[in-house]
Amino acid sequence: MKTAIVTGATSGIGRAAAIALGEAGWSVAVSGRDQSRGREVVESLEGEGCFFAADLDKPGAPDQLVDRCMEHWGRLDLLVNNAGIYSRGAVADISGDDYDRIMDVNLRAAVLLAGAAVRAMRSGGGGVIINVSSEAGIVAVPRQVVYNVSKAGLIMLTKSITVDHAKDRIRAVTVCPGTTRTPLVEEAIAGAPDPAEHERVLASSRPANRLGRPEEIASAIVYAASDEASFLSGTEIVVDGGYTAA
Ligand code: NAP
Repeated sequence: MKTAIVTGATSGIGRAAAIALGEAGWSVAVSGRDQSRGREVVESLEGEGCFFAADLDKPGAPDQLVDRCMEHWGRLDLLVNNAGIYSRGAVADISGDDYDRIMDVNLRAAVLLAGAAVRAMRSGGGGVIINVSSEAGIVAVPRQVVYNVSKAGLIMLTKSITVDHAKDRIRAVTVCPGTTRTPLVEEAIAGAPDPAEHERVLASSRPANRLGRPEEIASAIVYAASDEASFLSGTEIVVDGGYTAA
């Protein structure tokens, strides 16, 4: 049995990744804060699954999540660091509280989860850590500086895990989605002064001229986790409809 933890699996990209991993034969620990959406995802899984509630900006939550998986299955083969929150603002608009709120979930929790996962994976002979960054980790998307910084940090987390832990048979891969139709993006569109125009601008800013679908990001995650990707480590898979190519 190969076991995975997917954080932020109660919604959007994480939900699609959990379901696709289940179809690919993984046993999946679905994690998030919302119990009822978490249980719905577990019921949609093809293989074995469970829901572990975790509020990742609470002290100790990353270690507890990995411990629960080890207690439940006795091994951990894959961590998908996907949980994330979005914020707007150029650097002159950012308070210390804004910074902490975003970085605690998007980067601090991911680093601490990766550490706990490495300790667990070493005892099982290796594993894979996938960090879900963004096109905004590669190029600076205007007026969302803390989000951009958090996503750039995940790219370096992947590289650092690779150089430190290839010897432990642990691979790390970053998946960088472009703008994808999920509740996170639907909320941003709905909150814009002119939602239809905002959606048109988001779509037309990339050569594909449309938003991504969660399943298209999930496919990259399943590939990066698979044995077919056994020489893939320390780098990014960019799934952005060409945004960063333009
Ligand atoms: P989403 O639909 O808003 O889902 C976010 C997930 O993160 C939810 O499952 C949520 O769990 C979880 N989460 C948020 N805060 C948490 C916390 N404090 N503790 C634990 N879990 C928490 O977002 P999405 O669009 O699928 O995004 C998923 C990832 O992809 C994020 O890292 C995002 O930055 C990245 N991304 C998204 C896009 C895009 O266009 N959608 C583009 C590039 C990158 P609960 O709801 O249960 O609290």
